[in-house]
Amino acid sequence: RIAYVNGRYVPHGEASIHVEDRGYQFADGVYEVCEVRGGALIDARRHLDRLDRSLGALRIAPPMSRAALLLVLRETVRRNTVRNGMVYMQVTRGVARRDHAFPPADTPASIVVTARRSDFAAQEALAATGVKVISLPENRWPRVDIKTVGLLPNVLAKQAAKEAGAREAWFVDAAGHVTEGASTNAWIVTAGGTIVTRPADAGILRGITRTVVLEEARALGYALEERPFTLAEAHAAAEAFITAASTLVMPVIAIDGQAVGDGKPGPVATRLRQRFHDFAEFSI
Ligand code: PLP
Repeated sequence: RIAYVNGRYVPHGEASIHVEDRGYQFADGVYEVCEVRGGALIDARRHLDRLDRSLGALRIAPPMSRAALLLVLRETVRRNTVRNGMVYMQVTRGVARRDHAFPPADTPASIVVTARRSDFAAQEALAATGVKVISLPENRWPRVDIKTVGLLPNVLAKQAAKEAGAREAWFVDAAGHVTEGASTNAWIVTAGGTIVTRPADAGILRGITRTVVLEEARALGYALEERPFTLAEAHAAAEAFITAASTLVMPVIAIDGQAVGDGKPGPVATRLRQRFHDFAEFSI
């Protein structure tokens, strides 16, 4: 495997970042994960738009033009012979003597790109059975709309899920509303057939997959509501599912050990997942 690190393609095992990189010391950086299908980047424009937004929110100067970054993404995918998988990019505020405040303005941002294949068959098998989630109190900072590499609460939540035999953890805010999963957006389908997901305010990351699913569900004529929902509503829902570039639409069959609906992947989630292959935007 090959990784791109600050201007060079290097063997994965030798790909490294300086000990005083601000990403390493302060989690002072942002990232994106973009799906690769058939060797093409899926929804690249939207991912790069969100990367720009995250960088702008943290006042990190982009390390290269969008065109150059696209070339690097494609080249990293090519060098790793990824047909179906993920490409990961991370930009940090660069290497500087440790000091919480920003380094001098001419400090170049650090950039890393990696790519890896995903096990398509395993993903499909998982989608056929559905996944379990647990709920945990929301304990992240109030700006999770910025896709920063500061993911410790997400790491701990995912581990708690794993130890409970589940795949994902849903954060629940002080008002009792589900915000999102540790690495996915959260959805329910009410008994009346309405698809519900939380509005993309500062309380969640505006998932690219979420946006595409909203567009497609609308086009398919489903009733849709972007509003907060409670855990109780989720327990009473006909269906639940999660979305992310890495898992697409993944049916949820149990929440905190309690079956959702009949405890099997529901028709809405299944249909949206099937449709996904058609509506992913092969951009740029
Ligand atoms: N929410 C969180 C916290 C995430 O980390 C992710 C993806 O990694 C998502 C939602 C889903 O976003 P996307 O659909 O852009 O992958």
